[in-house]
Amino acid sequence: MGILYVVATPIGNLKDITLRALEVLKKVNVIACEDTRVTRKLLNHYGIEGKKLIPYHEHNEEKAAEKIIKILEEEDVALVSDAGTPCISDPGYRVVRKAWEKGFTVSPIPGPFAGAAALSASGLPSDKFIFIGFLPHKEKAKKETIERFKNLGITFIAYESPHRLLETLSFYKEICPNSQLVVAKELTKIHERFIRGTPQDVYQIFNENPDFLKGEFVILCYPEEEKNVFSEEEILKLAISLKEKGLKTKEIAKEISKKTGISKNQIYEILIKNF
Ligand code: SAM
Repeated sequence: MGILYVVATPIGNLKDITLRALEVLKKVNVIACEDTRVTRKLLNHYGIEGKKLIPYHEHNEEKAAEKIIKILEEEDVALVSDAGTPCISDPGYRVVRKAWEKGFTVSPIPGPFAGAAALSASGLPSDKFIFIGFLPHKEKAKKETIERFKNLGITFIAYESPHRLLETLSFYKEICPNSQLVVAKELTKIHERFIRGTPQDVYQIFNENPDFLKGEFVILCYPEEEKNVFSEEEILKLAISLKEKGLKTKEIAKEISKKTGISKNQIYEILIKNF
């Protein structure tokens, strides 16, 4: 019984491949891939020869899965996609599912994933995030999707094609104008760039530089303005020092509001509760 290895490959820079990925690609005789030309290029780059390539894609995946399962009965198979991690906004999961159903072992060989690479360098809150894959094409569905994920209050990551990017940014501008937006372009490639700011800022940059609209993009949105988080204890500490300077409660609330970005009324309530 063979093992199905799910092997991540580069998202641009061919050097972004792990030692284990190369080891597996060298070891197996059969590689299931999306576009044989793309995979050949990678294999040639690393001098890997004599492999049987079995193409699979969204439209023939069930059929290709059956073929791959037959081979797994005899030997190991590596599953790759054109770029990054197979099954992530890429075909592959039907092959993986079938392999499990038929009792084979499936083992991931982790590596590049554009969404995670973009998040790691975005500077947006990243302890919790949601990856939503490609945004829907139709305007109504796209707007509803942005609205839905905006309401969760955590960073959400989407893929978008270059010819839809500008219009999509205009939707972010309309739906979540106060969010922090980052567009990560051409990750790991020569023209890698991070465009950061409010949706208005980011939209304007792309609108004024049509050349930027070429390439591959990840859109990351943290749906709130960055606020300093002050605890009640810290607010009271500030308040006491201002009180000692002779300020009245209302003046203190105003000062602290300016400093923390928290509304005057909210501060006032904390003060009267404690003073
Ligand atoms: N499986 C891939 C992964 O692990 O990220 C995703 C493949 S999906 C078909 C292709 C989309 O991923 C692109 O349209 C773009 O949104 C994003 N992407 C892939 N490579 C990228 C790169 N180098 N820079 C920015 N975005 C990239």
